[in-house]
Order: sequence, then structure tokens, then C-alpha cells
Amino acid sequence: MCGFIGIFGPDGVDVAPEIYEGLLAVQHRGQDAAGMITYTDRFNLRKSHGMVAEVFAEEDMQRLRGNVGVGHVRYPTVGENRSEDAQPFHHTFPLGTAMVHNGNVTNLAELRDELFVRGGTRLNSTCDLEVILYVFQQGLAERFAENKGVIGVEDIFYAVAKVHKTVKGAYSVCAFVADCGMVAFRDPYGIKPICFGEKTDEGGRWFACASESVVLDVNGYRRTTEIGPGEAVFISHDRGLTQRKVTVEKHTPCIFEWVYFSRPDSFLDNVSVYKTRRRFGKALGKQWKALGAPMPDVVIPVPDSSRDAAMAVASELKLRYREGLVKNRYIGRTFIMPDQASRSSSIRRKLNVIPLEFRGKDVLLVDDSIVRGNTSRRIVQMARAAGARRVYFAVTSPPLIAPCPYGVDMASKTEFVADGRTVEEIAEFLDVDRLVYLDREAMNQAARKGNPCLEHFCNACFTGDYPTEDVTLERLKVIEDERGSQRSNPATL
Ligand code: AMP
Repeated sequence: MCGFIGIFGPDGVDVAPEIYEGLLAVQHRGQDAAGMITYTDRFNLRKSHGMVAEVFAEEDMQRLRGNVGVGHVRYPTVGENRSEDAQPFHHTFPLGTAMVHNGNVTNLAELRDELFVRGGTRLNSTCDLEVILYVFQQGLAERFAENKGVIGVEDIFYAVAKVHKTVKGAYSVCAFVADCGMVAFRDPYGIKPICFGEKTDEGGRWFACASESVVLDVNGYRRTTEIGPGEAVFISHDRGLTQRKVTVEKHTPCIFEWVYFSRPDSFLDNVSVYKTRRRFGKALGKQWKALGAPMPDVVIPVPDSSRDAAMAVASELKLRYREGLVKNRYIGRTFIMPDQASRSSSIRRKLNVIPLEFRGKDVLLVDDSIVRGNTSRRIVQMARAAGARRVYFAVTSPPLIAPCPYGVDMASKTEFVADGRTVEEIAEFLDVDRLVYLDREAMNQAARKGNPCLEHFCNACFTGDYPTEDVTLERLKVIEDERGSQRSNPATL
């Protein structure tokens, strides 16, 4: 999972400060590496390991001049962890193009083999974006030759169509073609989010696209259009905007963006993440009542992503809401630690209890998801140690059972605590007195309520049904092995 931003400003301005602000706003989407590329009469690039504030020094910002640029924060799901694998990527031929993306290419191994090994081209990195950029550039090169060196909007859409035809999986992409324009596009199923906005000042019109709308907010943009599945938006050099459905399939945005990944202040496909999480909580509260589950004394969220939902659970159940767990924000994600033992200890490092909210009480803990079960098990132990009488657990999503080949860093199949266990067995494993997962259709309905046009969502991690038909067991195995080998290499963690 990654975050990106692209900005095309009026002539004479520098977009780097806005890209920097935008990257800070999506830092939660990737803390592994950050990068930015701008264009003056040449490309200016800075990318490296680390958080945004560590990667860009003052002298980098002075060097990153130009009125067009793209930026990226990386959470690697494919590729190694070398600086060369960080985004953006750029190519100089046939036109200078710089690109960023969020997503995961599912036919990467086949494409590598076809295009590169048998085709003789050599790669600079292990990042799947390099393949997308290569195919896009191939499209431009075909048109460049036919048009005798002129590239216009139709040629850009031709290159996008070529990417759609060739590259399978989930990807939202932003690129600029030097002295030609900026393009943003989404895979034919619209699995990954993307948003687009504009603003005008005395200098002229500014255009921005990003993986989450919070990036637009912090830079003062208004969301002006939604980019649908298989759709592309192109802003030409003279600032003309063209939007086109290039390839259409069924729209299936990833529901996990609303469940866990995105910031609550973002809108995805015109649906508020905050309001959706509140609706998850309300539905979960109703479910708790309908099941006749025991009433606790207090509702406590597992910080941070379940807070909005937990408040709604409490109000639906007419119970007190209390902050009983405190998160140390300055500890990295426990999720990416190499082995079980270090994962458990880092959860303890990350969360601490306020005992007076637990002592002698029946508590209902609310979290957004249970993956391996390590976090929940440890939190339950902490709650009991703090004197809780009974510990109940409610989750704002259904049991996770299938790996995500589209770029969400999930456990491999056998690591899911829900794999092969009933809800009662999971409750026993976690040592909770009652466990309730949000019903899958109620979860989808909560997101759909914000935009009734969204008929379907990608629920693959809950069902194992992958919307892009190319995901076979063999492909999943290749993707899992690739991730497994990166996880077992401490240098990549
Ligand atoms: P686990 O201990 O494996 O069950 O992890 C569950 C916790 O990880 C929950 O509190 C989630 O909020 C969080 N989580 C869920 N998905 C991810 C992800 N892809 N990356 C990092 N954390 C996650």
C-alpha cells in the first residue's frame, strides 16, 4: 500500500512545497521510503528510504524546482527495499515521463519474462511501477513513430489503453509527460482509490491528483471530478482537461480502504471514510443487540482506526465510551516485524492500558480487523491483567481469510487466525468471552450508503473471490513467495 500525489501548477511556480505537504498527509500509507520528481528543463529527483521529513532536506527542496511534479510514499509489497526501488520512476524516451502509483501488478512475473527477459530489455529495479511505466512508454513510442514526433491527448489515452490491456492487477497511477501534460488513471476495476482536484489563484489554474482526498484538502484544492474504473484524466500543456473512460469493467473499489487504510478525513469514490466507519459501528451495535450478546459496562476502541466506529457502537448500545488504551505514535508498525516474538513485544511497546477503565468491568473492545490475531490476543491479556471482569471483542469487518494480491500487506493464507477456525474457535484463541464480526453485506452497505452508484466492492480478503479474473492459485503463490522472501530478509523490514 502506498500514497502518491501529482501536481501541475501555472507557469513559473514551484510545486515541490505542495507535494511535500501532500506526502506528509499520506505518510500513514507508507513509511518505508519517500520520493519526489519535478521538471524544469530536466528532471529533478530525490528519493530514499525513510519518512518524508527525513528524506527531504532543505537543499533538496531548493533543487526540486518546476511547476509539475509527482511524489510518493512507499510501503513495499513487491520489490526489494533498495533506494532504487523507491518511487517515482522516470524514463527519457520517447518523451520524458515520470510516474508514481499505488497498487500491485498481478502478472508481474509473466510481464518481466515476456517484455524483459525474452525481449532483451533490462530493469533498473524490482518495483512493479517500472513495468507500468515501460508499457506506457511503449504505447507512446508506437504513436510517436506514427505521428512523426507529435504526441497529443489521443496518444496519451492510447498509452493508457495499452497499460490496461497488458498490465493486470490493481493500480492508480499519476504521471507527467514533460512539455506535454499530466495524466492520472485507474485500473479497469477501480480497485485502488484516486482523487482529483483543482484550484485557481492569481497565477492561474492548479491541478492535483492523489491517492486520498486529504492531500487535496491540505493544499487548498476542491475535488472537481471522480476518476472512475478504467478512466483517465489528462491535462494538456495548455491546461485543457480531457476525461475519458478508456477501458470499462465492473467497479470494485477495495473495501479495506474504508475499514483500515485511509484517513477518516478522506473521501474515496466520493464516500466519506469517517461517516462510513460510523455506519460500520452503528451496524455492529445493531448486530450485537440482535445476537443477544451480553451488555458490557463500557466500550473501548483499539486506537486509532477503530475510534469512530467504536463511538457509534457505544451510542447504538447506549453505553459509555472510554479511551482505555493509549498508543505510542512513534513506534513503527508492529505488522511488519519479522517474527512472531518481536511482533508481540512491539505491540506491548505500542499500546498501554489505563487500568481504571478496566478494573472490575465488563469491557467491549472494538477493532477494525483481526489479521493474525496477535494484536487482539495481546490486548485481551492486557485488559485482563488490568482487572477486566469480562472481555468482549467486536470487529468492524468480517473474518479475513484470503491474501490480497492487490497491494494490501496481509498475512499469507495460513497466517490468518480465521483460516480454518469458527468464530467460537477464534474467540477461544483470543481468550475473549464473546466475539462478533461485522456482517459482510452490512459492511458493504455502510460504504455504499455514501454513494449508491458503488454496487460492488472488492471483498477478496474476506471471500477469496478476486474481481480481476487473472488471479489464480499459481499467481497467488508467486506473489506470496515474493513477499515471504522479502519478509524473511531483515533488511527489507
Ligand atoms: P493482527 O495482530 O495480525 O491481527 O493485526 C491486527 C491489527 O493490525 C488491527 O488492529 C488492524 O488495525 C491492523 N491492520 C490490519 N491490516 C493491516 C495492514 N495491512 N497493515 C498493517 N496493519 C494492519
